[in-house]
Amino acid sequence: MDRGDKFDAIIVGAGPAGIFAALELARKSSLDVLLVEKGCDLLDRKCPARRTGRCIHCVPCDITCGWGGAGAFSDGKLTLSPDVGGWLEEYISRGDLNRLIADVDAVYQGFGAPETLHGDDPEVVSAWRLKALKHGLRLIHSPIRHMGTERCAQVLARMRDELEGRVEILVDTPVVRITTRQDGDGRPVVTGVVTTAGQEFAAPAVIVAPGREGASWLQGEAERLGLSVTSNAVDIGVRVELPAVIVESITDDLYEPKLLYTSRHFEDPVRTFCMNPNGVVSKESYGDVVTVNGHSYADAERRTLLTNFALLVSTRFTVPFKEPIVYGKSIARLANVLGEDILVQRFADLRAGRRTTAKRLARCSLEPTLAESTPGDLSFVLPYRHTRDIIDMLHAMDHLLPGVAGGGHPPLRCRGEVLLLADGARRPAANGGARSLCGR
Ligand SMILES: Cc1cc2nc3c(=O)[nH]c(=O)nc-3n(C[C@H](O)[C@H](O)[C@H](O)COP(=O)(O)OP(=O)(O)OC[C@H]3O[C@@H](n4cnc5c(N)ncnc54)[C@H](O)[C@@H]3O)c2cc1C
Repeated sequence: MDRGDKFDAIIVGAGPAGIFAALELARKSSLDVLLVEKGCDLLDRKCPARRTGRCIHCVPCDITCGWGGAGAFSDGKLTLSPDVGGWLEEYISRGDLNRLIADVDAVYQGFGAPETLHGDDPEVVSAWRLKALKHGLRLIHSPIRHMGTERCAQVLARMRDELEGRVEILVDTPVVRITTRQDGDGRPVVTGVVTTAGQEFAAPAVIVAPGREGASWLQGEAERLGLSVTSNAVDIGVRVELPAVIVESITDDLYEPKLLYTSRHFEDPVRTFCMNPNGVVSKESYGDVVTVNGHSYADAERRTLLTNFALLVSTRFTVPFKEPIVYGKSIARLANVLGEDILVQRFADLRAGRRTTAKRLARCSLEPTLAESTPGDLSFVLPYRHTRDIIDMLHAMDHLLPGVAGGGHPPLRCRGEVLLLADGARRPAANGGARSLCGR
């Protein structure tokens, strides 16, 4: 190891967590910082499936790895609420958390995120909250700043430009091991990292931010180093696609309503997630599984007549099973096996206990925005409990937004089919306890 391999701090992962760590260190210190990313640079990230519609399971996956991390091709929604997206309040006070959220938001705006904030009018939010409560739904106040898929990439490119020359950046460089030495009390103290090519880099501080893609690796490292690991809940669900007009009263007001529901039969927490007004459903590969996600473009010309959102059921396993990712992935894999990648079903068919066939799908008043999907039967994929929870939630939402459960409730402004697409696990097991691990 020569002097060029020694730094004051090393950051593993160039997702939002790693990039923000680098920005903070570059702006507020004169430390020598190395940022190591296993995927490629932003402009080199090209998913073949976006061209061909077929995932060929690239390693690493250009959708989830590379400069910008997992959300680089997302539509860049910044949800500015301490009540959404994790459990940071378990680590810092609510006041500090709100200040951090405001700081992060200001940084995004500094790099070109738009000024417009959706869902921040207290009177409008309060009116929707009351309406939702009447139907057993809880609305979380969560103002949204929407960058849009195209602007998200520009923002990430500008962050890269600012860091150029101020932080040493290595892409296409997976870290394989965190190195340690023993201190006087026999406890491990971090000394650096080793890459898969065997390159060693030394630093007295290592920030590990490998995201969902690196969750299994991180878990292995944590166990090897004797760090405690806790399992998060796993979210299993579907992506719902319906005519935008059915939900536009709420999406126009709030853009992305975060609705929580306690399911009628199992009392499970079910919630809406990642709503994309006038958006598209896209396919995503996570190594060995293919699942779906949603986008919406800021550019009016690229908007569709459909809105999509995820409906997720959270399950927390206790003992002895503590592998939420394994559980989620096996459900996603099952959907892939039955559906040649993505399975799609009309909600009416799921309720009626029958498969959606190509013929039934063709009768639909809406055409799915994701063309490559196989009509099928989600009840062969999702556990009964999750299926029931999702049906319950759609019925509750139907009272708030008539048509969400697919029509048949006169008087309807618009009778619309509702499509469900098989989704997988949305939230990885995260590490708890160690301060140098960050990200979602
Ligand atoms: C399609 C999609 C859409 C999304 N949309 C939104 C949205 O609109 N709003 C929102 O708030 N969130 C969204 N998310 C979630 C958001 O992207 C994640 O919460 C966020 O990316 C997490 O940031 P992170 O830095 O912790 O991890 P990641 O973004 O996953 O970044 C981790 C990085 O570490 C790298 N890495 C992993 N292991 C190693 C290793 N061993 N060595 C070197 N590098 C490694 C990975 O390649 C990756 O680039 C979306 C996610 C996806 C996939």
